[in-house]
Amino acid sequence: MSASFSLPNPDTLIDALKAALGEQHVRTAEDDLALHIREERGLYQGRAIAVVRPGSTEEVAAVVRAAAAAGVPIVAQGGNTGLVGGGVPYGGIVLSMARMNRVRSVDSVNATMTVEAGCILADVQAAAHTEDMLFPLSLPSEGSCRIGGNLATNAGGTAVLRYGNARELVLGLEVVLADGRVWNGLKALRKDNTGYDLRNLFVGSEGTLGIITAAVLKLFPAPKVRATAFIGCDTPENALDVFARLRSEAGEALVAFEFLPRLAIEIVLRHAPGAVRPLAGDHAAYALIELSSPQSDANLEGLLETVLSTTIEDGTIGDATITGSEAQRAALWNLRERISDTQRYEGGSIKHDVSVPVSQVAAFIAEASQACEDAMPGVRPLAFGHFGDGNIHFNLSQPVGMEKDAFLSRWEMFNRIVHDIVHAMGGSISAEHGVGLIKRDELLRYKDPVALDLMHKLKTALDPHNILNPGKVLALGDDLPSSLPHGSPRPVLVS
Ligand code: ZN
Repeated sequence: MSASFSLPNPDTLIDALKAALGEQHVRTAEDDLALHIREERGLYQGRAIAVVRPGSTEEVAAVVRAAAAAGVPIVAQGGNTGLVGGGVPYGGIVLSMARMNRVRSVDSVNATMTVEAGCILADVQAAAHTEDMLFPLSLPSEGSCRIGGNLATNAGGTAVLRYGNARELVLGLEVVLADGRVWNGLKALRKDNTGYDLRNLFVGSEGTLGIITAAVLKLFPAPKVRATAFIGCDTPENALDVFARLRSEAGEALVAFEFLPRLAIEIVLRHAPGAVRPLAGDHAAYALIELSSPQSDANLEGLLETVLSTTIEDGTIGDATITGSEAQRAALWNLRERISDTQRYEGGSIKHDVSVPVSQVAAFIAEASQACEDAMPGVRPLAFGHFGDGNIHFNLSQPVGMEKDAFLSRWEMFNRIVHDIVHAMGGSISAEHGVGLIKRDELLRYKDPVALDLMHKLKTALDPHNILNPGKVLALGDDLPSSLPHGSPRPVLVS
């Protein structure tokens, strides 16, 4: 399989696309391309010959057929909020799903909704809310990310502990294949044992196997009561102890258990105007805990109070605050959600999105932090995130006063240290952000070789000419950009 594409006459393709979609939905001007050829963190600068905005599944299929006939690659994009370079084009066409943003139907008895892939996640949540239901996928970019991208990357977020990740929230899909055919798998069934699970091939495939155009999503009863707590303790091990006790006491009511180290609180308080210190004292480790229930008489605050007062009495935690008020709850979540964006004010950061078994999560944080500090004295580990899922965003902030580029030049060294520890603990080097470009070469190192071989076979079977998001997840062909985020990835494919 080769990733080198020839395009005898680009104008022919552009003309064909304009004929299929209408002139105004095929953009080639530099200004129109600018938003689509780089990603959020500015790590990758791509290139494209056009951005197209189909308005229907049939139009997506027409674009794919035209591009396939011309041998030109396609990168499908939702909100372009990905964090692994998966949506950056290296030549070819960007297929924006922005116009396909309709909620096709809601079935409250079946507890499902059918939506187009370009629906913004917050709009999906709102449509469920209108029916007094919940679509629980929730992440910081929910105001701009689109559900097709959430499914293509199997997004996680802050409610996975209770509801699962995107994969667990979808019942059916509609997908445009690499040859332009449409697979209508929009079944709204909880049970369907009719052969291989095709849906799960496409969820998490990052646009490399097909283009998701619509989905049937699962809905849940809307929560009627919530209780939120913030705890301060000495170690991640203490936090794990509290998590285990709460899970057995609260069961399904436990929706989120998010871990924050002292450095996270310090950075947010320093750089986010209006952020408020959650507890009076100073602690090395914190956790944000949320319980919710669809039963309006559930006494969640009482439950939290009972468990947390026991843990204070036996010395597991130093302090805790519990709130049922919406304003205080928002303030606590604000602390958690501002970690990523305020970290940029602390200079360079090297990030890892990893998972280990939940029982290992505290040991992982301790071991990886120590190993990184040994490798570079002064480096500031910032390990935070979805503790209850075993998913830690193991970020490293540069030592104070160090040259940013000098720090970032050690990217590979820190990847090796952190990922080796993750691997030894039976973990994953990509928990919820995906592989994209940034972890493509890491995958070769850590993924089971038989699994990699099967992935190659699937890619070859479903996309034999490597048209769909080439160079992402798997390196195919011999002329692909490096997966490293620094330096300049070689542009490939169409010039
Ligand atoms: Zn996360």
